[in-house]
Amino acid sequence: MTTSSLNWPVAALRDAELRDRTYMRVGGRARWLLEPATPEELQLAIVTARERGFVPRILGGGCNMIIEDGLHDCVVITTDRMKRCFRPVRGSASFEEESQRSELVHVPPAEDPRLVVWAGTTLQKLCSTATELGLSGMECLAGVPGQLGGGVAMNAGGRYGEMWDSVEVVRVIEPDGRMLDLPRAECTPRYRNGGLGERVVAGAILRLVPQTRAEVRERAKQYLLEKNAVQPVMEWSAGCVFKNPDKQRSGGLSAGQLVERCGLKGRERGDAYVSPQHGNFVINRAHASSDDILGLIEEVRAEVASQTGVELELEVKVWRREPR
Ligand SMILES: Cc1cc2nc3c(=O)[nH]c(=O)nc-3n(C[C@H](O)[C@H](O)[C@H](O)COP(=O)(O)OP(=O)(O)OC[C@H]3O[C@@H](n4cnc5c(N)ncnc54)[C@H](O)[C@@H]3O)c2cc1C
Repeated sequence: MTTSSLNWPVAALRDAELRDRTYMRVGGRARWLLEPATPEELQLAIVTARERGFVPRILGGGCNMIIEDGLHDCVVITTDRMKRCFRPVRGSASFEEESQRSELVHVPPAEDPRLVVWAGTTLQKLCSTATELGLSGMECLAGVPGQLGGGVAMNAGGRYGEMWDSVEVVRVIEPDGRMLDLPRAECTPRYRNGGLGERVVAGAILRLVPQTRAEVRERAKQYLLEKNAVQPVMEWSAGCVFKNPDKQRSGGLSAGQLVERCGLKGRERGDAYVSPQHGNFVINRAHASSDDILGLIEEVRAEVASQTGVELELEVKVWRREPR
């Protein structure tokens, strides 16, 4: 526990900078930033924040997030320290770890192709672990930044699949503080929405598909090359700004293609601009303010609506400063 934790029951920072905790590199400070290291600490952080009148906001890798500048008088809980990924006890449906029971160590992945993953594990760590074990299912997330919790909450994915294709059980914390294990059949994930509402993801059990390591690695490499060829992955962004609209409404065009058709690629506001490479990415050149970015997004949305009649819906999550 840090000295700045005052009387929070988990590590805590006061007036914590959020900017560098986002991929877009924009955003102000949080009155409190809580840093649980385990699912139990996450539960404790949520319960304590709520007892003190805060509705906590959950920050994963900050890769699909635009945070307004200024002081946010709120409690943010980061899952950054919850980075464990391990194999479960064979045959058990719980989050228990295999290596705690010596007789079960070295179960071949093909005999139990599951992984237990805590919320803060990065998607890239997850991809590489699955690849090393010869387990397929995570390649669709090759090159997608962020963490397991954010990936489950957003149902991250792309043309080759999505997070929830592999979720067997998700461990969540309800707003009232109860920790529950929800089987896949009880969940209703949709396009870029895990369908969990206000529940917080503490971890998940993933069921993957045994294959050879070489096959999995080759597929992940291929998907990564394809992604890097079309998206500005090295720039500061929040990923795709808009969800792809219903194809019937958009004449089969994606959000990025609509932006391009409207001649908006390269459009600038302050230090923010629409990527010339991919119309659905807004980039922070270096010193963009949240007003630059959010203003540009609104400009693009309004222009697409007026030129094509398609109202684009935000995929990115926006955190505004709200009075308590
Ligand atoms: C260069 C780039 C490329 C990208 N490519 C893709 C892509 O191909 N496909 C794709 O789907 N996305 C893509 N993204 C978006 C992003 O990587 C994914 O949405 C990722 O899953 C976000 O995870 P995160 O941990 O960063 O979530 P954050 O951005 O931190 O949070 C996103 C939302 O999830 C909520 N959340 C976070 N953690 C939890 C939790 N534990 N429990 C409950 N809610 C939580 C947050 O409160 C917020 O509402 C890309 C982003 C970038 C910057």
